[in-house]
Amino acid sequence: MADDRPAPPGAALHEKTATQGQTAAPPPTPAYLWHNGRLVPWQDATVHITQIGWTAISAVFEGIRGYWSNERQDLYLFRLDEHLKRLARSMKLMRMAPAVSAADLTSAMLDLLRANEFREDVYVQPLVYFAGGVPGYRAAYTQPTEVLITARPAPSALKTGRASHCCISSWVRLADHVMPPRAKALANYQNSRLVSTEARINGYDGGIMLNERGKVAEGAYACIFLVRDGVAVTPPATAGILESITRASLLEALPQVLGVPVEVREVDRTELYLADEVFLCGTLAEIDPVVSVDRYSVGTGEPGTVTRRLEDLYHGLVRGTDPRYPAWRIPVYHDA
Ligand SMILES: *Cc1c(COP(=O)(O)O)cnc(C)c1O
Repeated sequence: MADDRPAPPGAALHEKTATQGQTAAPPPTPAYLWHNGRLVPWQDATVHITQIGWTAISAVFEGIRGYWSNERQDLYLFRLDEHLKRLARSMKLMRMAPAVSAADLTSAMLDLLRANEFREDVYVQPLVYFAGGVPGYRAAYTQPTEVLITARPAPSALKTGRASHCCISSWVRLADHVMPPRAKALANYQNSRLVSTEARINGYDGGIMLNERGKVAEGAYACIFLVRDGVAVTPPATAGILESITRASLLEALPQVLGVPVEVREVDRTELYLADEVFLCGTLAEIDPVVSVDRYSVGTGEPGTVTRRLEDLYHGLVRGTDPRYPAWRIPVYHDA
């Protein structure tokens, strides 16, 4: 169907991100997905149309990246155990009874990746939802949960030279007394989508959210760091952030490997304008240098030294070309 809406203001500016995020022709689908205990051919995994909608209300998920190593001819899942622990915490917040153990979820993911014979970077997404399509205004905690796992190719953007121009969103990060921001829940993504949409329409690559206290929280789907005078600073877990596993990994690796001190504390909006460096981090975002905020150049307006060094380090760690933190990588095809 032709889209004859007028181009949004600043359309030319976000061409870059439009092609980054959504390609015109959908990629071929993987051969299999995993649903409620078994591998299912992609085309056969259907549900009744009336299931669309309410199942998403309490659904929680994880996003895990797998990185292909040409050298080792293996695929490495990054921090799988941490992702499964967080999935369990998200489920607890939604009062979901576990349908599948962490060990079984791990086997399910490995089976799925092997069945699809991926030899490239991938993104794996387990999704847990209440069965039965219970309307959103009704309690659903007595319903059984179902699990769907999909995996798809997702090329890494590390070391491709990308950099983002961000704005401070006029949308505020959802607060812990409204909906639990630390749950990785589909419903929370309405907040994220409003932020991304506003940012794109206004000609930015992404938006950064303040929390209800007016302090910096995070991006739409990634946490945030700033670097000032050689110190890396990130907002605390109580700032309304999703407790990011990438953020936690960087809080370890920055001081331990790069010798960069870290500080976890409240961050003001104007600190982003005055920072030497800003970057977003997350499984999907990886390390994304932010080179301007509200059109204030960050530092020189180019990705800074700490960000560059960190991107190199992260690239090595996720692919296993850097042997440090071996427990962070789960090999798919060979034994650890
Ligand atoms: C998943 C997610 C992140 C990043 O978390 P990681 O564990 O690093 O992938 C940040 N913010 C939101 C809202 C998220 O959903």
